Amino acid sequence: MEKMCIKGMNQAELQSLCVKAGESKFRGVQLFEWMYRHGIASFDSMLNVNKSFRKHLEEHFIIQTLQVENRIQSKEDKSVKILFRTRDNHFIETVSMVYGDRHTVCLSSQSGCALDCSFCATGQGGFERNLSTGEIIDQLIFVRGNIDQSVTNVVFMGMGEPFCNYKNVLNAADIFHSPKGFNLASTRITISTVGLLPQIKQFITEKRRFKLAISLNAADDRVRNNIMPVNKKWSIAELIKAGKEYSNQKKRQVMFEYVLLKGINDSENDALQLAQLLQGIPCKLNLIPYNETDGIYQRPDEAVITRFSKILHENRDEYRVMVRWSKGQDIDAGCGQLAGQTV
Ligand code: SAH
Repeated sequence: MEKMCIKGMNQAELQSLCVKAGESKFRGVQLFEWMYRHGIASFDSMLNVNKSFRKHLEEHFIIQTLQVENRIQSKEDKSVKILFRTRDNHFIETVSMVYGDRHTVCLSSQSGCALDCSFCATGQGGFERNLSTGEIIDQLIFVRGNIDQSVTNVVFMGMGEPFCNYKNVLNAADIFHSPKGFNLASTRITISTVGLLPQIKQFITEKRRFKLAISLNAADDRVRNNIMPVNKKWSIAELIKAGKEYSNQKKRQVMFEYVLLKGINDSENDALQLAQLLQGIPCKLNLIPYNETDGIYQRPDEAVITRFSKILHENRDEYRVMVRWSKGQDIDAGCGQLAGQTV
């Protein structure tokens, strides 16, 4: 019989597993704490669990979902990129970014991606599969245990589209948030989506208030259709409306991301159109200068980036604007550069 994976189960599932095996419900809480608060990787380390139950667990479950294949340290900043291999030989990447007191971990939600955005390296390699809740959590456990600064923020901005793997991503986020797990406030967990409208609507109804980021990347549907095929399904106007609904309902500002591509979406007119779209929306706008992937696109000159951001500053009312310079450029760890390559 193939062993099931225990990592990723929530407290209720662990409790029911324990009760079925003739143990007390409280054992489930202990398993939860061992796995997520302490990040242990073997049943033998669960010291307050009796030996016979540990043996039972060992026989029926696996606990470790990922193996580290490579770890690259940036020479320019404190970013580290980690390449993992899943048990069925898929590759995923995770990035740790330390900046002052802030330690942000960028997690992957899928191996590969099916969305095919023309500027993103992950999409070029095609889609492999969704990651399990355990595989998402193991990325964070590794970073927490191997990088010498407390994790303060988690962003689902690595490989994949988190809302194509909705249930597992939300389950992992719940465990990150749990005081007995990773104890991260919901404001410190951000899920970034390409703009899947049904899932955004679903997300607004969830009781948890994790942060939402929407990758807008264009102010005009014609441009967005060209660079993000998903736009043919859900248009810019629909995404802006859903973002506004999120901000209003959750009393939390939605974030819009906008990758700046030279000659494609970086003109003065684009900036004015974008400012117009965001009027009256309580939101944050993150401008991301394009990170090189395969040479089709280029990053705009610094003066163009400054002019674009200035126009948005001048025209803003309720939104805030920030330019996000990706970290770890020298190790291809920036937004859109994660390809899960072994060499
Ligand atoms: N699929 C999700 C999360 C992954 S991408 C999403 O689309 O939001 C995280 C962010 O990086 C997105 O805003 C995306 O538009 C941006 N991005 C992708 N490729 C990029 C590149 N080459 N340079 C800069 N940003 C990029």
